[in-house]
Amino acid sequence: MSDLMKQDGFDYTFDQSACSTCQGRCCTGESGYIYISKTEIEKISELLNLDISEFVAEYLFKKAYKYSIKEVVHNDSHECVFYDRESNGCRIYDARPLQCKTFPFWNYYKTRVDELKLECPGIKND
Ligand code: SF4
Ligand code: SF4
Repeated sequence: MSDLMKQDGFDYTFDQSACSTCQGRCCTGESGYIYISKTEIEKISELLNLDISEFVAEYLFKKAYKYSIKEVVHNDSHECVFYDRESNGCRIYDARPLQCKTFPFWNYYKTRVDELKLECPGIKND
């Protein structure tokens, strides 16, 4: 089966096999926001076997009216608190937020493919 993903409306493809060697560049690097909905908060709390209030206090922070997942800093890299460097994976993969599931097919990148290519080595547009 091909690892190449396409999506209508996007003029680039994404090779998922790049994830095994890129060391989570979309989960690390520059600081950013990883927004999470109420339903996702419930799902991840359940996955981690935590009360919602415990989960929110430990792993989230408020950005305006939304919640975002906390980061930890490692050697100047701002890493999502759920990124596991040892396994190069996401500790909440099955319940990860939509924002993570839909990367790299974000509307923002439709007109910024060069910027995306710098972040994600799996992007091809030629
Ligand atoms: S930056 Fe791209 S290749 Fe790297 S882990 Fe994220 S999606 Fe995969
Ligand atoms: S929740 Fe998982 S996929 Fe999303 S940024 Fe954090 S480690 Fe990456």
